[in-house]
Amino acid sequence: AKRAGRDTYRFFTPQMDEEVRKRRELEGALRKAIDNEEFVLFYQPKVQLDTGRTVGAEALLRWRRPGVGMVSPLEFIPLLEETGLIGRVGSWVIMAACRQIGKWLRSSVGPMQVSVNVSGHQFGEGGLDRDVLRALNDNGVPADLLELELTESTLMANTEHTIATLRHVKRHGVQISIDDFGTGYSSLAYLRRFPIDKLKIDIAFVRDITSNPDDAAIALAIISMAHSLKLGVIAEGVETAEQLSCLRRQGCDQVQGYYFSAPLPADQFEQFLRKEAAR
Ligand code: C2E
Ligand code: CA
Ligand code: CA
Ligand code: CA
Repeated sequence: AKRAGRDTYRFFTPQMDEEVRKRRELEGALRKAIDNEEFVLFYQPKVQLDTGRTVGAEALLRWRRPGVGMVSPLEFIPLLEETGLIGRVGSWVIMAACRQIGKWLRSSVGPMQVSVNVSGHQFGEGGLDRDVLRALNDNGVPADLLELELTESTLMANTEHTIATLRHVKRHGVQISIDDFGTGYSSLAYLRRFPIDKLKIDIAFVRDITSNPDDAAIALAIISMAHSLKLGVIAEGVETAEQLSCLRRQGCDQVQGYYFSAPLPADQFEQFLRKEAAR
């Protein structure tokens, strides 16, 4: 039995014990992962539809867990958020992305816009704007080469503080996009309070865009709405030539997905760019 409060005892079944043990183990491993530099960013190309050229990348977090291999963020981001470790990891992600942008800027790659995913929990602690401005400054990176991806639910959950933080980085030129757009319940009137540059159409509408007229209608509605509001629009999860041509017909600006490339380690991303330039 475990002491849960002053005079209450909570009893765990063996199965619950096992879950608690596993969770503690994972949490301990995650704490060490930060210090041991086990995290790495992968980069997935973002392709401009009219030119067919890569104009940017989304940075996606990976954990090279010793003895286990590459772990997906879906398996550890929730725990990082629950334990408050997301603050430290989030700062690391922003710094690592800016380091890479700076490296590319001063190499033959040149200016490459990179987006990072920002969790709602990173706003709670404050200092996100400070992290961003320091990372840009330390690496000599122009602010417009960094983009922050936030989900609708993040924007819904935090209001005044989030708006203030986003306005602050936006004033310096950092780009802001809404990730997984169309899946939340936020109204457009609400979202207009945020300094947004781009909408990202969620994979849920792209998946069956060629076979489901409703999904195609939603994608088209998002694209025309984005354009009438002078926002950019990108579709994620593009896997086939058919999905691509549908999005092209609909006037989408940028696309991203396995059809072009999976997320890649930085050196393989550079290789991808070299191959593209040789085409
Ligand atoms: P997301 O931001 O919606 O990222 C897109 C996910 O779709 C990525 O999964 C990406 O690898 C995957 N993907 C890309 N192209 C395709 C495709 O054509 N088909 C399909 N089916 N999937 C595709 P990943 O890398 O496992 O990341 C999962 C989620 O973890 C992300 O979803 C994001 O919410 C979160 N995440 C990743 N990196 C970070 C980070 O640095 N910080 C925070 N806070 N969250 C992160
Ligand atoms: Ca994203
Ligand atoms: Ca997304
Ligand atoms: Ca998603």
